[in-house]
Amino acid sequence: MLELKSGERVNLANAGYVTIIKELGRGGQGIVYLVDLNGEQKALKWYLNPPGEAFYKNLLNNIRTGAPSEAFLWPEHVTARQNGSYGYVMALRPKNYYEFGNFLLAKVTFKSFTAMLAAAMKICNGFMMLHRFGYSYQDLNDGNFFIDPYTGDVLICDNDNVMPEGERSGILGKARYMAPEIVGGKMPNKYSDRFSLSVILFMLFYANHPFEGAKVVSCPCMTESFEKKFYGSEATFIFDPNDRSNRPVRGIHQNVIKRWGVFPAKLREVFTEQFSQEKLKNPQTRLIESQWEKVIAGIRDELVVCPHCKEETFVEIEGPEHKCINCGRDIDVSKYLLLGTRKQILTKGTKLYIDHDNIPDCQVVENTNDGKLLIKNISPEAWTVETPSGKIKSVNPNEFCPVKNGLVISFVGGNKGQIVEG
Ligand SMILES: [Zn+2]
Repeated sequence: MLELKSGERVNLANAGYVTIIKELGRGGQGIVYLVDLNGEQKALKWYLNPPGEAFYKNLLNNIRTGAPSEAFLWPEHVTARQNGSYGYVMALRPKNYYEFGNFLLAKVTFKSFTAMLAAAMKICNGFMMLHRFGYSYQDLNDGNFFIDPYTGDVLICDNDNVMPEGERSGILGKARYMAPEIVGGKMPNKYSDRFSLSVILFMLFYANHPFEGAKVVSCPCMTESFEKKFYGSEATFIFDPNDRSNRPVRGIHQNVIKRWGVFPAKLREVFTEQFSQEKLKNPQTRLIESQWEKVIAGIRDELVVCPHCKEETFVEIEGPEHKCINCGRDIDVSKYLLLGTRKQILTKGTKLYIDHDNIPDCQVVENTNDGKLLIKNISPEAWTVETPSGKIKSVNPNEFCPVKNGLVISFVGGNKGQIVEG
């Protein structure tokens, strides 16, 4: 009997034991139990088909090396072998985090674009740290991410397939998320992880799959050989500019049809490039995580609060028009903060992100006396502000800097932003 009963004790490989409280859920690989470890509640993943010795050793190894970042629900203990199987112990997932798959089915929705972009940044950062630690994930898919729809905070689960780069877990990944070369029989590595990351990001923004269009819909029955074509040898991006054969289908791929134009052009360009035939066939040329972070930060720079309807909207400062996607009214883009090549539009209520830590540093507010805009310091550190004539003032947390042409704000960490009133 591989399954465990409540009250049953399972010994840990090193020392101590956990006591089964109850089953939390089950999937193809195993059962997750709520367990007690020295008075603390944890989760135990218990394999129904226990993988072999190499997998067991790899788990022990990953525990020794530790989690790449706090975003990972990393294995904390491996159990001893018992009842013909084994498992590993990890932290419990907090209740306010929902499986990414539920977002795709619209059972859960992001409460704001801010939360969505925060989630994208978190996922990129998690994989950047994972690869820096010398790991590859190998089985990246929509079941691995749990997201808080209010904050966009992300927890990455199912880390038992994580292997040192260059070794294989024996698990190839879920077909829809695998890179074409893996579908074609190659071994997963950080380059194929990067492909899977692009797919996850695409689905996060557009809630449809980048390779599922007319070709896939016309398939009478998804067999393994069709799957190998659509996600492997003949994978075609639904918006491939050179091949229209796999365009999204009305009534079926409504999300991407509706959302494709909502996000800035830059995002469309990057996905079109990443899913081009050239990138599909040359894994080493795919965007790395830190470049994705830059792209997403750039998209976030174009997210503003509409001064008319107070809703979030993307506004492309260089674009031909600056209309709110909600109320259709024009948004004034003449005032912005220039940070190197980045331009962050200043409208009342908009929050600005200076660095990549996912925490806003500034909020644009209105002076109630004269209706003029101010930048509030909502960071924990003081800024210095220099006027065009060379006067220097400090702006402490919760203090304000006027939106005045030529003022230069020095933020912590060496970032300098110049206020432009066009
Ligand atoms: Zn509006």
